[in-house]
Amino acid sequence: MTPQRNSNDDATGRRLWLLIGLVVVLALAVVAGSVRLILEPGRPIPSIGLLIGFVILTAFASRMMVRIRLQSGKLSSTWLDLAIVVGLVLLPPPWVVLGTAVAITAPKLFVTTTTQRILFAVGKETLVAAACGALFLLSGYQPAPERPSVNIGLMAAAVAVMWLADELIAIPVLAVATHRSMRQMFLIGIRLSIVMVISRFVLAVLIVAILRSSGDARLLLIVPPVMLSVHFWQAGHERGRQERESWQRLADTTDELNVVELDEVLRNAVIRACQLFTAIEAEIRLPADDRVVRGSNGAIAYDGPMTEDTRAVDTVETTELSGHDGNNPIGSLRIHFQGPVRLTESEHFKLKAFSSALYTAIRNAKAYAELGRIAAANAHAATHDPLTGLPNRRQLYERAGQLFRAGTDQKLFALLLIDLNHFKEVNDTLGHGAGDKVLQMVAAHLRDAATPNDLVARLGGDEFAVLLGDLPTPALATHRAEALLSALEIGVEVEGMQIVVEAAGGIALAPGSGGIDELMRRADVAMYQAKRAGDQTMTYAHSRDTADVGRLMLGGELRRAVSEQEFVVDFQPIVDLGTGEVISAEALARWHHPEHGPLTPIQFLETVERSGQLPAFANAVLNQALTAAGVWREAGFDMPIAVNVSPRSLLDPTFPRTVLGRLEHYTVPADRLVLELTETLTISQLDVVGRALAELREAGVRLALDDFGTGLTPLSVLSRIPVHQLKIDREFVTAIETSSEAAAVIRSTVDLARNLHLTVIAEGVESEPQRHALWESGCVAGQGHLFARAMSSPRLLATLQRGTGGRPGALAAALHDEGSVVRMPRRRSPGSGRKPLPHLPA
Ligand code: C2E
Ligand code: CA
Ligand code: CA
Repeated sequence: MTPQRNSNDDATGRRLWLLIGLVVVLALAVVAGSVRLILEPGRPIPSIGLLIGFVILTAFASRMMVRIRLQSGKLSSTWLDLAIVVGLVLLPPPWVVLGTAVAITAPKLFVTTTTQRILFAVGKETLVAAACGALFLLSGYQPAPERPSVNIGLMAAAVAVMWLADELIAIPVLAVATHRSMRQMFLIGIRLSIVMVISRFVLAVLIVAILRSSGDARLLLIVPPVMLSVHFWQAGHERGRQERESWQRLADTTDELNVVELDEVLRNAVIRACQLFTAIEAEIRLPADDRVVRGSNGAIAYDGPMTEDTRAVDTVETTELSGHDGNNPIGSLRIHFQGPVRLTESEHFKLKAFSSALYTAIRNAKAYAELGRIAAANAHAATHDPLTGLPNRRQLYERAGQLFRAGTDQKLFALLLIDLNHFKEVNDTLGHGAGDKVLQMVAAHLRDAATPNDLVARLGGDEFAVLLGDLPTPALATHRAEALLSALEIGVEVEGMQIVVEAAGGIALAPGSGGIDELMRRADVAMYQAKRAGDQTMTYAHSRDTADVGRLMLGGELRRAVSEQEFVVDFQPIVDLGTGEVISAEALARWHHPEHGPLTPIQFLETVERSGQLPAFANAVLNQALTAAGVWREAGFDMPIAVNVSPRSLLDPTFPRTVLGRLEHYTVPADRLVLELTETLTISQLDVVGRALAELREAGVRLALDDFGTGLTPLSVLSRIPVHQLKIDREFVTAIETSSEAAAVIRSTVDLARNLHLTVIAEGVESEPQRHALWESGCVAGQGHLFARAMSSPRLLATLQRGTGGRPGALAAALHDEGSVVRMPRRRSPGSGRKPLPHLPA
């Protein structure tokens, strides 16, 4: 192997000179030793003709090379070994050594090459010849030009020694010159060497055998042509192999470029281009990206903005990175060589193939990155609310999903569901722009008040949610929720108006099962309860949850209940506390569920109210109530019927018309219908509700305020809703004898009612003492288990007809009939002819 080196820096140059100097010094010593041996007296002098023949053969053999290009240098293997072995068979070793030195030197004088190369080549081959000569000397072989012996073992050993010597000398020098490891160099050369060493050995044996059988050294003249033909065959074969290998490498390399990361594509390409074209450096220039990636075999030297490349390189091969027909150029690939290099036609092809693969890989990686960017933008849009920028429902669900997967026993977390109270009002009166502003301010306040462990999300409309993470104790959830809701009370300024945001929050701790859907449902239940109770927050409690049944009712259940008339109405009579006579009845809904049996409103009402079935349900109740009223009237009991109305029904603009239509249909006078409204209607809803109620009231329908006393702002409600009756909540009636506060509430309610000309009805009257106490407080009407439970319409009619104490229509003895001392109530309100309400402050 002959390295034809090319240094590219000073350190390499110095090391090369050192190695080559060593080779030359050793070679000189060998030459000197050979000369001494030749000059020793008594040594035979071989024939001049044979010597000249050997030198010519050797010179010829040394010029026949099979090459591998390595960077700008080449790895080559010659036929020298053959010449030397044949020489040693015929001539004494010292002459062979000297002859080799001459044979290598002479032709080099006629070709242009560097002194360094000449010195190294001569030095190395001299040493190789000397190593082989030493072997022959040691073996005691006597050269016999006339009749050489065919010593196959010795010849094999000789070829092996020469190969070894060649490798030992060449590899370090080659490795230094090409910046590769000795191992790499050894592996690159070994294939070439083995094939050639074997072919040379076979040929050498053949030649020696022919010489021996003919005994004519002139036959050596046939060696060069034989050598030449074997050489051409071999060189062609080797070229073909190299070609196949390099195409294979090209294919492998372009495969490697098929990665999605642009950085990886560029870095791989630079390193692979160096290896593929055995260049000292490769460079990819992408002007549009202002980027250059440069590297050598194994490492990236530069990756950054474009710079003017001022380094001197001898040869630069540039190919444009562009599509077919040179479309859409994106930059260029350059490969650098030290020293003059001409790429072969096939290498040009490969370079073209490589750069087109690189072009595609870069385009793909860029497209992929772009796709990633778009996907990220889409992901943001998909997980965020555009108005407030808050995470949306989807992200909330994802985060909660993660927390659930992490396990609820490790980290406590909770969900706070927030619903704004006045929002619709703001939207209706100030416009959607103002509504949006309020939502944005609410979002900002919540975000500011949240801790880093919380996730604040907008679920849509005026609903927000906060996932409270990392809770040390369950109690802290309430604390944090209150802090968040208080943050909303700061108020927001919209169009110069100060709006105080009121909100209700439902808190639910993450349940052990059911996941986010259950968590959401629980928070929703709690929020709904907070709203009903007029509280700022409410924490979910299993005992208050009616939705276990409620969940069953979702899906088709409610629709079926309506169509199959599973909703039925029972009636609880309302009694004159003084006389015990029934004065009206309240319709109370029941669900005769085919599987769960009779369900009370507490169990299903929430679900119905939040489903699309509320109007159908309300209609069913109204129909049954009006039907019953008609039946009773026919039987001589003409009394008003009270029907409970959900706040949500009142928000339905078609509700008043529906009610009036039903009254007409059943020919029930409007003043025979009392609609019971719950106080949980919030102030913000009053304006909407007010219009509906005004329409009903104008038509003669009577209104009652249910559960009076439990709400927060009864007076303000009274000022806005012109009702005819107040129903005192059961909790006060129950406590009337034991709690002076409850008694005071009842008394002041009665006073208020008298001033406003309203009727008062007490709910939940269960005992005679309660009845007495109520009567004495001035309350004249009541309902409760003392008189009757709710019952079906026919049963109530039968009860009325039967009566008590021979008095049809009465359910209890009159107070004065019992002989007890009865004070008359301070005043009995007729419950009609009511004057307009004074306007009370809200
Ligand atoms: P409410 O309007 O306050 O109705 C009175 C509730 O108290 C009824 O419960 C009744 O059975 C119960 N009650 C009556 N007297 C006594 C008593 O002496 N002691 C006790 N402990 N309880 C008594 P119910 O039927 O379960 O109704 C519960 C609530 O459901 C009602 O409260 C009402 O707000 C609502 N509701 C009932 N029916 C309907 C309806 O058709 N539509 C709407 N929207 N709500 C309804
Ligand atoms: Ca009621
Ligand atoms: Ca009530």
